[in-house]
Amino acid sequence: RVGKVLSAAGLPIDGEVVKGVYMGKGTWGGNGEVMESVCPSTGEVLAKVATATAAETSEAVKRAREAYKTFRKVTGPKRGEIIRQVRNAIAEHKSALGALVSLEMGKIISEGEGEIQEYIDICDYAIGLSRSAAGRVLKSERPGHQILEVANPLGVVGIITAFNFPVAVCGWNFALCLAVGNATVWKPSPTTPLCAIAVTRIVADVLEKNGIDGAVASLVCGGLEAGEALVNDKAVDLVSFTGSERVGQIIGTKVQSRFGKILLELGGNNCAIVAPSANLDLALRTLVFAAAGTAGQRCTTTRRLILHRSIADKFLPRLVKAYENLQTRVGDPLKSHTLIGPLHTRGAKDTFFKALEQVKREGGEILVGGESYAPSSGDLKQGHYVLPAIVKPASPESPIFQEETFAPMLSVAIYDDLDQAIGWNNGVRQGLSSTLFTTDMREMGKWISEEGSDCGLVNVNVATSGAEIGAAFGGNKSTGWGRESGGDAWKQYVRWSSCTINFTDDAPLAQGVNFE
Ligand code: NAD
Repeated sequence: RVGKVLSAAGLPIDGEVVKGVYMGKGTWGGNGEVMESVCPSTGEVLAKVATATAAETSEAVKRAREAYKTFRKVTGPKRGEIIRQVRNAIAEHKSALGALVSLEMGKIISEGEGEIQEYIDICDYAIGLSRSAAGRVLKSERPGHQILEVANPLGVVGIITAFNFPVAVCGWNFALCLAVGNATVWKPSPTTPLCAIAVTRIVADVLEKNGIDGAVASLVCGGLEAGEALVNDKAVDLVSFTGSERVGQIIGTKVQSRFGKILLELGGNNCAIVAPSANLDLALRTLVFAAAGTAGQRCTTTRRLILHRSIADKFLPRLVKAYENLQTRVGDPLKSHTLIGPLHTRGAKDTFFKALEQVKREGGEILVGGESYAPSSGDLKQGHYVLPAIVKPASPESPIFQEETFAPMLSVAIYDDLDQAIGWNNGVRQGLSSTLFTTDMREMGKWISEEGSDCGLVNVNVATSGAEIGAAFGGNKSTGWGRESGGDAWKQYVRWSSCTINFTDDAPLAQGVNFE
């Protein structure tokens, strides 16, 4: 099974060490530590991967900068044509790459394929952007003058990604970078290198066929050594980081201290509120996916559920029942019957159990799930499977309610008044995603207003997770304030120049200043 998935994704299956470093034609290599990619559903080693040293990472940045100097001169529409070819090549490999995501990350196969679809969607978006990424012409107060706001590429963008979206998040960054003329150096999660290698091989092939230096899409697989080298390199104009708050704070501070540009997409502690008027059937269906899907390993996973007292006794038992039913759908993520795959690592499983212990220690209770799951099939025995849990912390002020537990644990609280529920939604450090289930227009209006949710994603009757690429994606507060993907997110990947041009022989000064 493993061999089939790896070879379909264009990866070697004969036990040879897979090269995880690329910086242009003929450069596949890696002299750093050899790391193992381990399958979360079976515990088997999928492949050994050669990673980047700090010196190789600087070399990749240097080559990316050289490649950028030529690439920036390629016209926008021509770059759009290259993105179109990347899009088609990725689409051709959609099922192979989707299966690889499922195998290496552990999400279920339809989500693995969904992740590749996201890459395709952002390419579609970026193709249009390559012709429409526009500046502005503004009126000057001085006769015969024009003011322009001009968008030029930044240069080299370092993309550091998390394990849970091993393909799509790089795609969000890469497609926009290509559209506006930047070169990129990607440092993927050390636990999902194969996804990154498979995607980079496809992208590199398209670039090279078009006579573009492949260093425009460089790859440095590895851990801390490669990551730190990328963050500290002054030649990296923008570091786009997706990962935990803890690491984001370290990286943000380092990049800021060298006056680099930083884009942070960090953790969420996402909340769903169910109001008295809500369509409870819709809320139930939506919440089971949002809270338990991807085994709770989306940045936008619903982690907190705030139920109105009037519907709580009706709704909560139905949700608990739905979680009980889910227990028959835990297992191999590559099987179509499975809805809940494994946690990504042994460490994530430990985090899950520690959080459940904390709930109990703080006086809360576990309503359903929370056990380890032992699959009947022999090969899955070493997988990191758990039964998704619903818990009721002692109070919404409990410390456990305030933290992101990156596992399928949903914390429930009961509210009486919408302002109280909004207060709890906003009363945590993180500000990524939020949703309100209601059919009351007044509640919807308040929720999306200045009195409502303070998150970057503010939904109504829609899951906290599963965003489309059309709008900008990102969160506020300790989620980092970053915006990626659609909307105006591309504006962060360019340097803006305000250009005032005098078309006359006069030299009037602004604000009527006289210097004669
Ligand atoms: P992580 O922070 O442990 O690692 C993320 C990346 O940072 C990895 O590539 C890692 O190797 C690298 N890294 C770690 N220390 C570094 C350092 N000092 N210098 C440079 N690079 C370093 O995160 P994770 O466990 O892979 O992912 C889970 C977290 O990511 C969760 O908190 C989740 O909410 C968050 N996430 C956020 C978003 C978003 O868009 N907001 C999306 C996906 C995941």
